[in-house]
Amino acid sequence: MCFRPAEMSMNVCAACGASNKPIATECAACGAPLKMKTTDFDADQASLDAAARPAAPAAPGAPKAPAAPKAPGA
Ligand SMILES: [Zn+2]
Repeated sequence: MCFRPAEMSMNVCAACGASNKPIATECAACGAPLKMKTTDFDADQASLDAAARPAAPAAPGAPKAPAAPKAPGA
């Protein structure tokens, strides 16, 4: 086997780089709080939601749809 699937589920400490158990909430080496996958996902979603919100609204009075001239009598 070339790949090590166990590494993917390991909690790698961002502070010291130590590998901790997936269920570990704190680094066993330095004690730094480990980012849990659920929290990471939630934070990612929150950041996505915040990024999706436009900082400034569209120009007021701007037409929403291009005024397509309709043939009279249609
Ligand atoms: Zn650590």
